[in-house]
Amino acid sequence: MGDDGVRNEAIEIMGLCQFLPRLVVFDLDYTLWPFYCECRSKCDMPKLYPQAKGILYALKDKGVHIAIASRSPTPDIANTFLDKLGLKSMFVAQEIFSSWTHKTDHFQRINRKTRIPYNEMLFFDDEDRNIEAVSKMGVTSILVGNGVNLKALKQGLSSFSQSRSSLEGNNQNSSPKSSKTEEK
Ligand SMILES: [Mg+2]
Repeated sequence: MGDDGVRNEAIEIMGLCQFLPRLVVFDLDYTLWPFYCECRSKCDMPKLYPQAKGILYALKDKGVHIAIASRSPTPDIANTFLDKLGLKSMFVAQEIFSSWTHKTDHFQRINRKTRIPYNEMLFFDDEDRNIEAVSKMGVTSILVGNGVNLKALKQGLSSFSQSRSSLEGNNQNSSPKSSKTEEK
């Protein structure tokens, strides 16, 4: 399937969702592209996973913001690659720095920059320790096994919708019931 095919299918998937996240955050290595930047040279021409580009464009089409959270020790190579792929201007935040925490500081920065609450975010990463740490912050976090693809997107959006609807359910339960009906 080409980029346009993936984009159309992703738009269709999003059209079926009751809730969409306001921001989707992506890891880079083994999430958007199938390699570690630090093992590559800036002169290389990078390639994304086959469905990644179509998904990024579909999110933009639907008005969902996108951002990067990467612990790459070579942000200069990562930035060069994003530039070469023509993606750099698409992201509302790009946090690319190595860190001892499992991306919690990346997400704090993204939250400060965008003002988008954690429970309005969806995150894709290939490392379970990052998924574990970031999901504790309230971000719906999805572990990818073979990079971002339509299957992972579907899974992410449905987990996000589920947690949103349970939140809404809780809010409804905690608000006082209409007394009018009870009086009658
Ligand atoms: Mg990774």
